[in-house]
Amino acid sequence: MPVLSLVAPFLNEQASAEAFGQFTRALARDVKSRFGLDLEVVLVDDGSTDDSISRYRESLDGNWRIVELSRNFGKEIALFSGIEESRGDFVLTVDADLQHPYEVCIELISTLLADDDLDVVYSVRRDRMRESWTKAIGSKLFYRVINAGQRFDMPENAGDFRIMRRQVATALLSIRDKRRFNKGLYAWMGFKQKGVPYIPAPRAAGETKWSKRGLAALSLEGITSFSALPLRSISVVGVIIGVLGVFYGAEIIVEALLFGTDVPGYPSLMASISVLGGFNLALLGLLGEYIWVTIGEVKDRPLYVVRRIHRSDDVA
Ligand code: UDP
Ligand code: MG
Repeated sequence: MPVLSLVAPFLNEQASAEAFGQFTRALARDVKSRFGLDLEVVLVDDGSTDDSISRYRESLDGNWRIVELSRNFGKEIALFSGIEESRGDFVLTVDADLQHPYEVCIELISTLLADDDLDVVYSVRRDRMRESWTKAIGSKLFYRVINAGQRFDMPENAGDFRIMRRQVATALLSIRDKRRFNKGLYAWMGFKQKGVPYIPAPRAAGETKWSKRGLAALSLEGITSFSALPLRSISVVGVIIGVLGVFYGAEIIVEALLFGTDVPGYPSLMASISVLGGFNLALLGLLGEYIWVTIGEVKDRPLYVVRRIHRSDDVA
């Protein structure tokens, strides 16, 4: 029988472990009866400091494993380690906080199984209208920058909640980027993908692990690992300012030589120094950002470290 792997990373989600156990039981039953699939559950403990692991061990049954990472590596890498541990013919990735509704999971599975020509079915969040306008504009701008001039397009608001065939999972695992920006990698891989809209449920318990700063950092990660547009646009601005400067200089020389006009000293000097200095500093910071990414890739450390793998067999 073909196997469906359910992969979910968690960080301090002890309060929703019980509900997650029920979720997997229902899923195991339904995928067997509706699609003839066996379910394998792979959870990843991304450095939880609470009782999550023992709660999950109590509430899961059937075929499950928990990859316990040695510390918090961040959701993107935790998800990677889970996919690497999974063995199924299909891999369904969800959040452990049950924000990804059950019916949508079923819809993703049935959409993929219904079409042999599809490799990936991803979900698209449809609740951006409820967010603050700064966040909405920020997100629009982000996708505008990142999609400019790429050969592939990152669909807006399509995240980690998706199902893929084994072949796609293998391709994803073969990408060894250290600083992983999943949304970008999914798009970079290509394949035949299809989006399904959904509205996330409220969290089963606890609070989001994403702070505003975390989101900003992730966006920067996405931009530096997938786009050279900021670098290029600053070069263009530099060239424009330089050319304007040449004309301005020429004008002053001509006026001074032909008409004997006084050359305005201090104000023009200050203006050019502050404009050029400002752009220089901004570009240096941006360059530093890209160099930092490069250093990370060059160090070639492993992506993650496993402390222990808990298995359903140990319990039995
Ligand atoms: N998560 C994780 N490691 C982290 C942060 C989050 O494994 O460093 C997990 C978290 O437990 C949850 C999922 O990733 O299962 C999504 O996180 P969260 O719900 O905080 O994000 P949001 O849904 O608010 O985008
Ligand atoms: Mg969540």
